[in-house]
Amino acid sequence: MLGKKLIVQKYGGTSVGTKERIMAVAERAVKTKRQNNGVVLVVSAMAGETDRLIRMAGEMHENPPERELDMLLSSGERISAALTAMAIESLGERAVSLTGRQVGIITDSMHTRAKIEQVKAERVRQAIDDGMIAVIAGFQGITVDLSDVTTLGRGGSDLTAVAVAAALKADLCEIYTDVDGVYTADPNVVKNARKLDKISYDEMLELASLGAKVLQSRSVEFASKYEVPLVVRSSFSGEPGTLVMKEDKDMENVVVSGIACDKNQVKLTVMGVPDKPGIAAIIFKAVAEKGIVVDMIVQNVSADGSVADISFTVPKTDSKGALEITQSVADSLGAKTVIIKDDIAKISIVGVGMRIHSGAAARMFQTLSDNNINILMISTSEIKISCVIEGKYSELAQRELHEAFGLGKSG
Ligand code: ADP
Ligand code: ASP
Ligand code: MG
Repeated sequence: MLGKKLIVQKYGGTSVGTKERIMAVAERAVKTKRQNNGVVLVVSAMAGETDRLIRMAGEMHENPPERELDMLLSSGERISAALTAMAIESLGERAVSLTGRQVGIITDSMHTRAKIEQVKAERVRQAIDDGMIAVIAGFQGITVDLSDVTTLGRGGSDLTAVAVAAALKADLCEIYTDVDGVYTADPNVVKNARKLDKISYDEMLELASLGAKVLQSRSVEFASKYEVPLVVRSSFSGEPGTLVMKEDKDMENVVVSGIACDKNQVKLTVMGVPDKPGIAAIIFKAVAEKGIVVDMIVQNVSADGSVADISFTVPKTDSKGALEITQSVADSLGAKTVIIKDDIAKISIVGVGMRIHSGAAARMFQTLSDNNINILMISTSEIKISCVIEGKYSELAQRELHEAFGLGKSG
């Protein structure tokens, strides 16, 4: 046994955004190693690089083949991993950069959003045993037959880190980013947002799925399943960060822990479909067959009960495909028309305390109403309430709800 502890540190795009930042990452890794720990790094592509590559792909092809996109996008992480390994070597420690394939991150073949099936990590274990720092290129894997590179969806380096930490049974998985931890709302939108010392896996999963991009939602799901000890902290400071952990007793005393906002959906409405059994099934079967995931659904029936309007939301990236298929189904059903609305925002409040405390929904709706914000759709689960509103009110709604639920620094 070489190290006292095995620590996985993941550094996001901003944290490796310049050569100075990469050097700072190397210094932190070397310091952790010299405290007699085993250290594994997972790095993202340098800030803006993935977006730049996506833009370039779009200039080559209107709808780039997903296999080629994965080949292209995985290169961003490869660059930062190699540079980070060099920086570590320059500080006098030995390091080895590894791609997803070299780590043995085996995935299914759903390009651009692959799921991890297995993490072998033999070379990572070997590197640690040899006293080296392993630097893993995040966000990528390889198909089972080792023939194609895959990527794990936007923000996927978080998942790489958590999956590697689970496979190695690491003592800690640290997610280093550009904020001090998980806040009650996006601190770049709500200035008064407060950093949380700890948050339950369930709440973090809801916040991440509902738009808080500080952690990729699948990484939280994975961390929860394998109980990976996870901490979110800043690569720019020495602050302790936020622990993402199993729920404890005091967590239920807080009704709302955080607010999230998702502006990446569009709303489609099929107007005037006959109100009879089987209609919703026909529409949503057709959408599902296109591989499009529907989020919220609302159906209104006309006063005389003869026709219905069905509204639903889908990811913005699927809006074109969703509109085409919905339009053709609507025509075949004799519906009046299909309307698409893309300037919407889904605002959500999340808290395990909602299981035992009542009144959160009423307060949310009242706060929106006091600010003249119309609610277009509502959905709830045990620990969250979401409202779709006009996109232009998203920041106002976040700030006002934050205030109404007393989440601010002085709240
Ligand atoms: P990285 O590149 O390190 O992966 P991301 O940009 O993916 O970083 O995630 C960090 C960002 O998440 C922050 O800059 C912040 O704007 C945003 N964010 C959204 N919601 C929250 C929240 N509740 N707490 C902290 N950050 C949040
Ligand atoms: N570089 C990828 C992205 O921008 C993965 C990551 O940063 O986690 O989505
Ligand atoms: Mg991220």
